[in-house]
Amino acid sequence: MSRSITRRAFLKGSAAAAGTLASGNIANAAVAPHTGSHLATLIDIRKCIGCEACVEACRDANTNKFPDPKKPFPEMVPSRVPVEDWSDKKEIRHRLTPYNWLFIQHAVVEVNGEETEFTLPRRCMHCVNPPCVKLCPWGAARQERNGLSRIDAEICLGGSKCKKVCPWDIPQRQTGTGLYLDLLPSFAGNGVMYKCDRCHERLRDGGVPACIEACPEGVQTIGPRNEIIEKAHAIADEINGYVYGENENGGTNTLYVSPVPFETLNAAMEKGKGKPHLESVKDRMADANHLAAAMLIAPIAGIAAAAGKFYKSVKR
Ligand code: SF4
Ligand code: SF4
Ligand code: SF4
Repeated sequence: MSRSITRRAFLKGSAAAAGTLASGNIANAAVAPHTGSHLATLIDIRKCIGCEACVEACRDANTNKFPDPKKPFPEMVPSRVPVEDWSDKKEIRHRLTPYNWLFIQHAVVEVNGEETEFTLPRRCMHCVNPPCVKLCPWGAARQERNGLSRIDAEICLGGSKCKKVCPWDIPQRQTGTGLYLDLLPSFAGNGVMYKCDRCHERLRDGGVPACIEACPEGVQTIGPRNEIIEKAHAIADEINGYVYGENENGGTNTLYVSPVPFETLNAAMEKGKGKPHLESVKDRMADANHLAAAMLIAPIAGIAAAAGKFYKSVKR
């Protein structure tokens, strides 16, 4: 990632921070946005063969966005902040990391008396009303009109608020990179958070995400959210199956359809750090206390970040 600090970046940071509050992001946070323009993906887990072609495609498509941390890391400030360094473990594919935004989760369950293995591509769910975006104190996470959410690595300070408020703990931190080092060059702190950005440049240019394009089995379908929901239910009705994501966390732009209950899959799969669950999730943005806190923090913190960038640009 380029760490060049420019007036443009300052303006971008200011705008993002201001936008967090002034554009009504926070003020309207409890209200789910109009989803008419949202694109959603449907993942039909019956079709997935676990080949990981999607994982490789994601890594190839996003290599230029992966972190390039400076080492050795300076003293961590505050000292309780753990170093999270994935730069020597870039090859890891069995969980989410800053270098692996998509992985394949496995669940072996009994279907009609037979042990059956299901494989599920897992990544950011792209929530309809994403807490990671609405509660980022720096305005670094944002949602586009088509519903995808992404984290701007030039603005993110890696405080991991986005991860704390994400029901699936999706964003992953890399130490020793990002704006933090420009603000306090003698100290390492938080770094930058990384996650699937749903290949936003490809979508902008009229393409489809790399993971969808690479899949030999046509596991994922992308389209307007209402059509994707209809399709998910049509398949579920046909197979007497189940849908995940329509209502989770108030609704997501990633839906799964499965012939077995998601509670069963969830119980059978390995979960934990970098390995999200498949539990039912209440709408986190309905919690007014979170919103009140964010409203107080967002403008101050965002302006501080932008000021830091500007200071560096003037000093050079
Ligand atoms: S799944 Fe988590 S990281 Fe993805 S949009 Fe929702 S809150 Fe944000
Ligand atoms: S949409 Fe793009 S960034 Fe997200 S998992 Fe697929 S290939 Fe990776
Ligand atoms: S490329 Fe398709 S079939 Fe292969 S693991 Fe990914 S989703 Fe499953």
